[in-house]
Amino acid sequence: MVADLHLHTRYSDGTYEPEELAAAAHRLGLGCLAITDHDTVEGCLPMSRACAALGLAFIPGVELTAEFKGQEIHILGYGFDPEDRDFVDQMARFQAVRQQRIREMVARLKELHIPLEADQVFRLANCRSPGRPHVARALVEAGVCRDVDEAFERFLKKHRPAWVPKSRIGADEAITLVHRAGGVAVLAHPGLYHVDAWLPELVRAGLDGIECYHTKHGPSLTDYYVTMAHRLGLLVTGGSDCHGHSKGQPLLGSIRLAPELVDRLRQHIAYRQAARAALHHSASP
Ligand code: AMP
Ligand code: FE
Ligand code: FE
Ligand code: ZN
Repeated sequence: MVADLHLHTRYSDGTYEPEELAAAAHRLGLGCLAITDHDTVEGCLPMSRACAALGLAFIPGVELTAEFKGQEIHILGYGFDPEDRDFVDQMARFQAVRQQRIREMVARLKELHIPLEADQVFRLANCRSPGRPHVARALVEAGVCRDVDEAFERFLKKHRPAWVPKSRIGADEAITLVHRAGGVAVLAHPGLYHVDAWLPELVRAGLDGIECYHTKHGPSLTDYYVTMAHRLGLLVTGGSDCHGHSKGQPLLGSIRLAPELVDRLRQHIAYRQAARAALHHSASP
């Protein structure tokens, strides 16, 4: 049962509906999927239904933005309870921050005399967890930019005029948040950061795994992180980071995680959930 464990849907900055994503994955011969939308778990229930209907295994997931050593890093959560009240409340707070950030980005664009309204972005995003890709698409739709890449290059990339930093929780907080909801915490695409030297610190904070297989990791980088994961006793995960049709051809299925690695992740999730259940049990009077 090969898996793709890093996928975005239209509940954040992907373009696929859960049902479309499940159908496309099924056609590509994948057996297990996790969606990892930014700061939302709304897609998990429809996706679990869509996967069940096609006989695919499903793991609830999320991608959180965190801060570590002065850098933005992404923490993937897997196997948590998507109905955990505290977790869902926390996602709602992250989403409110994202919506406010869209308004700030639009205000910056206004200062540059670019006529874009926040409502245009919200209408296009049509989700609670909007991000820069939605602003980019709105700029294309408004005829300001030729494509999404140009929008990022001119306005939205770090330190460009309409870039607004996202308020971020600490990496340790992100890991704890995932654990409390019964999930497993994995460092997303470490090849995009410069935190390798501090990985042991993340392990002490409770990190469970590393996303070794990712479309932005070449073969030698992948090997490097697999070795690192073994040395640190961490799980090995992987996924394509497919955002649908937003950036050319969909990446879905370009990473195929081996069944043994999927099984190990699921075992770890079961262990984490048992620990959470025991905790709830001892906490109740
Ligand atoms: P945000 O979470 O709002 O900061 O947006 C980050 C998302 O923007 C990432 O998850 C990617 O999907 C996308 N992204 C980042 N950089 C680029 C880029 N240069 N071109 C297109 N999309 C990008
Ligand atoms: Fe994204
Ligand atoms: Fe990411
Ligand atoms: Zn992602």
